[in-house]
Amino acid sequence: MKNNCVFCAIAAGEIPSFKVFEDENIFAFLDINPFSKGHVLVIPKEHSANLIETSDETLSSLMVAVKKVALGVKKALGCAGFNILQNNGEAAGQTVMHIHFHIVPRYSSGPIIFENGKCEMSELEELAAKIRSSI
Ligand code: AMP
Ligand code: ZN
Repeated sequence: MKNNCVFCAIAAGEIPSFKVFEDENIFAFLDINPFSKGHVLVIPKEHSANLIETSDETLSSLMVAVKKVALGVKKALGCAGFNILQNNGEAAGQTVMHIHFHIVPRYSSGPIIFENGKCEMSELEELAAKIRSSI
């Protein structure tokens, strides 16, 4: 695995993921342990560990893709809002050292709809297809 990095392997198609969007530089897929229904991760294909290590050029295309994918999530799932999260370093809760933005759909102002890890695989595939077709 390149860089021994699970997200590089996902972007290269070497390990499976529930893909929602891909272009030349960017890859987006469902989080396997979602905070809410339709939780997506958006990554650059080029490896960098965090915000500071990522080139301005890559960051620019990454943010444009985050907006595009968030719009697709909103259209597909009708969420009322969404959180964008991006953790830098172990101390901040980063567990995968390949920069990624979380898009976490919110369906009401209350708590997040289901607890971490409560999503069935079959539901993830259905969600990914729905989001893919809305981007
Ligand atoms: P962070 O805490 O910001 O580093 O978030 C890493 C996220 O990656 C977590 O929410 C994990 O559930 C998610 N994750 C880790 N491995 C995979 C994978 N193979 N496919 C999809 N999501 C993953
Ligand atoms: Zn990587």
